[in-house]
Amino acid sequence: MAFPSDNTITLANTVACTAAEGPGKRYAIWVQGCPLDCPGCCNQEMLPFVGGNEIRVSELVDWISRSQKDNGIKGITLLGGEPFSQMPSLVSLLPKVQSMDLSVMIFSGYTLAELHQLDGPTVEVLSHTDILVDGRYHADQPDTTRRWIGSRNQRIHFLSDRYAESDAYWDEPDTLELRWNDGELSVNGFPAKRLFPLWARPARPITPTPDEELDK
Ligand code: SF4
Repeated sequence: MAFPSDNTITLANTVACTAAEGPGKRYAIWVQGCPLDCPGCCNQEMLPFVGGNEIRVSELVDWISRSQKDNGIKGITLLGGEPFSQMPSLVSLLPKVQSMDLSVMIFSGYTLAELHQLDGPTVEVLSHTDILVDGRYHADQPDTTRRWIGSRNQRIHFLSDRYAESDAYWDEPDTLELRWNDGELSVNGFPAKRLFPLWARPARPITPTPDEELDK
């Protein structure tokens, strides 16, 4: 597998400010490429390791910084695609983000044990991660209780003391966000649990369309 250089990251999409992808207002980043191919994955277009938008990490940091000033975001969330398929990029990105007093949440299809078996700087990436949600998405095990979590096998790891299971965030209902950008409707977030089984629950946000920054 070819990784982008440590000064670039390949994105599928971003949302500059969302309240539907983790605790508080956050900058959401969907990376391009995932090797896991879970049956029922709702982000099929983000699975190939071709395509996406390869940008410099410094440019992404600028976007995040702008959103912190404009929107008061409290952190970033990485989804995909598989964020740990771009570990060198995360090693560049995450310390910069944390130095801005922003938190880091990552959704990975790998379990924590599998991450430690990967060839790459797993320990360094995890040392800059506040919340890790791990494990494949199993469409036949929809999680109908935990906020932001796709299937019951997936686990939430609080890797710093910045967040805890007792935080009120986790008791609030899931939300979906709809945006109308230049004539295109985009959707991100998670449907309310009570909509099950009307809506097949994705492990990742529902096929977002390019954020305005990717159109530049
Ligand atoms: S659900 Fe997540 S881990 Fe599974 S194939 Fe899709 S992007 Fe990859």
